[in-house]
This record gives sequence, C-alpha cells and structure tokens, in this order.
Amino acid sequence: MIQDVNMLWPKVLDELRKKVTEEQFNTWFKHLEPEGQFGSKVGLRVPSPIYKEWLARRYKPLLEEVFSSVSKEPVNVTFTSPSASSGPCNSSLGRAPGADHDPEKAVPPPLHTYLNKRYSFENFVVGHCNRLAHAAALSVVSSPGYTYNPLFIYGGPGSGKSHLLQAICLSLLSKGIKALYIPCEGFISHFIFALRTQQMEGFRKVYRELTVFLLDNVELLSKSPSSREELFHTFNALFNKQHQMVFVSTNPPDALRGIEERLVSRFKWGLLAALEPPDFETRAAIVERMGLVSGLSLSKEATTFIAENAPSNLKELERLLGFLSATFPDASSLSLQEVSTALQGFLPSKDRTVRIEEILQTVASFFRIPQAKIQSKNRTRSISFPRQIAMYLARRLTPLSLEEVGGYFGGRDHSTVVHAEKRIRLLKTKDQDIGDILNQLEAFLQKRC
Ligand code: ADP
Ligand code: MG
Repeated sequence: MIQDVNMLWPKVLDELRKKVTEEQFNTWFKHLEPEGQFGSKVGLRVPSPIYKEWLARRYKPLLEEVFSSVSKEPVNVTFTSPSASSGPCNSSLGRAPGADHDPEKAVPPPLHTYLNKRYSFENFVVGHCNRLAHAAALSVVSSPGYTYNPLFIYGGPGSGKSHLLQAICLSLLSKGIKALYIPCEGFISHFIFALRTQQMEGFRKVYRELTVFLLDNVELLSKSPSSREELFHTFNALFNKQHQMVFVSTNPPDALRGIEERLVSRFKWGLLAALEPPDFETRAAIVERMGLVSGLSLSKEATTFIAENAPSNLKELERLLGFLSATFPDASSLSLQEVSTALQGFLPSKDRTVRIEEILQTVASFFRIPQAKIQSKNRTRSISFPRQIAMYLARRLTPLSLEEVGGYFGGRDHSTVVHAEKRIRLLKTKDQDIGDILNQLEAFLQKRC
C-alpha cells in the first residue's frame, strides 16, 4: 500500500510543475485535491466534469507516472467531480486521513495568500447584472466605514462575488489601507487553530484591528457555531470603531440557514447588493476580458460563440478559457472554427443549458409562491415540496454540484439535495400527476433556452 496520499501530494505537485508549462499547471493541476486512497488506487477530486473528462483523456498517464515515481510504487489514478459525487460516502475510495472537509479539523491558513491579482476592478466588467454591487464596492474603497457598513453582496455560484470582493481588497491594499480578504473556510480554520493552540489574543488582534474585513462565503459559517460566536464579537468590535466589513454569500441574509438571528440581522444593517446572472452583452464583454487575462486573442465571432454557448456559471467559463489558452499557448488570434472545434464536447448541449435562476422563477410561478420563500428556511410542506422539485430540476438540467444547488436554495447542505432528488424521483414513478407536472416544467425550461 502506498503512503498517505496527503503527504505525497505536495511532492507530486512539485514534480508536475517541472513537467508542464505554468499555464497548464495553473489550469489543470492547481485545483486538484486528493480525495482518498485504497491500496494502489488514488482518488483526486476535480472542480468540475469538464476537468474530469480532460484530465482523464490527456493527463492521467502523466499523473500516474509522477505519483508512481514519488511513491516508488505503481499508482492508479481516478477522478471524481463534484456533480458526479453525492458527498463523501459516494466515493468507492476510502477517505484519506486528513482529507476530511470538516473545517474544525483543518490546519491554520496562511493569511494574505488568498488574493488573486487577476480579480481586480480593472478586470471586472460592469453591466446591468452587477451595477449596484460594483458602485457600492467602489464607494467602500473610497470611504471605508462611512457609506455602507456592512456591505453584503450575494449571488448564485460563479456570478462574480469573490472577484468583486477581492477587487475591493486589492484596491484598498494599494492605497495602504489595512484590509484582509479571507474565505470563510480560512477564517474558521484560523479560529479553530488559535483556539487549540491558545493564541486567541493574537487571533483577535489580527481581525479586530483591521480597517476593512472582507469575508467570503459566509453561508459556510453554519458549519461552526464557535466561529459564528467569534465573528459576532469581531463584528461588534469593528462596527463600534466604524471599521468597514464586507460579506459575501450565495444567498441574501434572510435565506441563510443555520446562522443565529443576531448575526443575520447585523448582516442587514448596511446595504444588500445582488449580483444577477449576466445578460448576453455583459457575458460577451466578460469572455473578451477573461480571454485577454488568459493571454488569448479571440476573434469577434469566436467571442460571440463562447458567450452564447458557454455555461452561465462564470467559473466554468473561466475554466473553458484556461483550457483554450493551454491548448493554444502561442495563438495570436483564434478563429470561430478553431474555438468551436477545440471546445467540442466541453460545451453543454443547448437543450440542457438551463440557469438555476430560471428554475427558481418557473417553479415559484407554477406553485404561485414567492421566490424568496423557496430560498428561505421555511419548512412547511407547501414550500418544502416545491423547493424539492426545484432542487431535483436543478440537478437534472444544470451542471451545478449538490453543494451549489443546496447553497442556492436556502443554504442547505448536499444531503438535503440528495434527499430531495431521491424523493422526487420516487414520486415521479409512483404518482402520475407529479410525473406530468415534472415533465411539463422540464419541457418549459428547456424551451426557454
Ligand atoms: P463567485 O464567487 O460568485 O462564485 P467568482 O467571483 O469566482 O464567482 O467568478 C467566477 C469567474 O468569473 C472568475 O474568473 C471571475 O473573474 C469571473 N467574473 C465574474 N464576474 C465577472 C465580471 N463582471 N467581469 C469579469 N469577470 C468576471
Ligand atoms: Mg466565490
């Protein structure tokens, strides 16, 4: 049996770095995570099905060669993508020690390493979908603590939340303002580490003396009661000093699940700003901008083709462009023909490109209930049943993972989505009326795109 895969992984990454270009490394290997091991089999978690297909096709032999040389034993690599797995138990591989995603067991995060310089205001395209949030972000930069405090930005997966939050932080840092951007997982890990090692004083000094505190993915706070308690006191300390806070989440505060009212109500003290899915023109401008950032020069036709066909989740778009730039490392200008051929098989087929926002809208209007209720914590049957239908449809018609679907429909975890899928699938076979409703909704949603 090979050594612990988590111990081997940093060495594997070092070796890979030597064997591929920097662009290829950043596109294909940087985001992989060891998921588990069983004998000579190693499982790697990939961020999306696109990755899985491409890695399996192109880089599996290289990964196996590097793994085998580092572990000095033959290794067989398999890949799992978020949408293909139904949580940790679904994997045929045993979970590796330390691969546990419970943030309370994590090691301390290196602060200040979370920022990505690409996520600047300069690279952020402004359109109808994000105008208010963008304007609020700029005003936070020009007078932190004085206009909206806190600023709370929310939007679906891949709508640009982290980009905007990091753009605020980068701008503030360039003005010499003491700002810290951290994803919630990092905050929780840091807190738990400080607690365990009795360094709470140092921890509080870091956060309570900030001029601007920017916390991403606050929906994940539901996983850690003690971190919520700490954040509550951090909030009060910063607010009393009129120091700025910016929070980001997939849902508005009222739809956050597993977070105490006292924190939820504080999130609403300032301004709530939504990021909507981009319209076509904004998407085309984003494709152009992302292309430039990845070193790609796309013809106008190629840009339009990608904007029309790529998944609505902009993270997937980023990966597609990363893939193109790895495929054409020194292309001067890519034609429509080159792009459409290269992306064949990676773009979702037209009849399955449904956005999660459309599912919410369609299900809410079909059952005549407000959209906000479907995204709320309300558990009455008249709301929870349509919500389960929406979750089921989102899993069938969008490429989103269990976590993303659960997060969107009221900050629920993956097991709730698994349960909804199972229940609705069962009802569909047992109850003719429900079967008809589901078929109607599905046909309607597919016709819309
Ligand atoms: P979220 O945090 O909402 O899941 P991200 O901020 O990670 O999404 O954005 C996903 C990708 O889309 C990133 O590559 C980001 O740079 C890009 N992106 C999102 N919105 C914009 C925008 N308005 N302009 C340019 N790029 C954008
Ligand atoms: Mg994000």
